Amino acid sequence: MKEAISIKLLYISLAVLCIVSSETKIRSMAMKLFDAHCHLQDQRVVDKAPLLIHIANAAGVVHIAVDGITEKDWHLVKEMSDEFDSVIPNFGLHPWYVEGKSRSWFNTLKELFEANPSAAVGEIGLDKSPLAKGVDFGEQVEVFKKQLQLAKDLKRPASVHCLDAFPELLQIMKEIGPFPAGVILHSFQGSPEVVPQLTKLGSYFSFSGHLMPLKEDKARKIVKAVPLDRLLLETDAPDALPTNPIFFVPGNATLNQPANVHSVLTYVASLLELSKEELADISYKNALGVFSFQGSKIPLK
Ligand SMILES: [Zn+2]
Repeated sequence: MKEAISIKLLYISLAVLCIVSSETKIRSMAMKLFDAHCHLQDQRVVDKAPLLIHIANAAGVVHIAVDGITEKDWHLVKEMSDEFDSVIPNFGLHPWYVEGKSRSWFNTLKELFEANPSAAVGEIGLDKSPLAKGVDFGEQVEVFKKQLQLAKDLKRPASVHCLDAFPELLQIMKEIGPFPAGVILHSFQGSPEVVPQLTKLGSYFSFSGHLMPLKEDKARKIVKAVPLDRLLLETDAPDALPTNPIFFVPGNATLNQPANVHSVLTYVASLLELSKEELADISYKNALGVFSFQGSKIPLK
């Protein structure tokens, strides 16, 4: 039964690919890409996750880092990783949800990492923007520090959300760091000025569709400030639908999916004046490097 469903999904994804390929996308689909951050466990897309993973894989998105955000969704990320080789699991407590944590959250998290050596840390972070809706910043800092220290102790990369809190982030990273296993500043929109200090501490900078609403000149300055060997691409799906999406989630055209990392590639490559092939190669190798920690599904080099 399960096999029949998978075959059906594969046919659907191939059909989708044929349509896309006929629209001159054949060459770009031959490239290998890595979606360094997304949330396929999100309730808006979780029932379609197997289909979206098949479509992404068929479109050359070889690996998909799926980031948990609360204790309630960690088991979904684990199940997805157990079922799909291309899914890299990440477990973390997101700053927006720190006030809903249980007393045992940190023990549960530590046990998850013991049981899942292939997991990275994320999504964790700091947010002083209106999007955080006033979540206590002191509590955010406390929860973030614990998880960042855990990532450092476990020698695994950490996927970090930071909005309007770069001075505090730098301060904490200096206290706990450096981070030889890498810290991924996901959907990075910080100022070009913070890039060198963050780079020195072991940061990578991951770009998504969140970059696209910015003025092009501002986006270009941010992207060009990042050293090419620290640049990653992601979708942050189901959010951050690019302004030039190639793929639409069946039933809801406002949602994003990992195959659209192709759209992010196209935009960032244009800002950097690189070919899509060059940037695909650079970002894919960078992602393999940061996600190839001891125990990862991606073999150590
Ligand atoms: Zn995210």
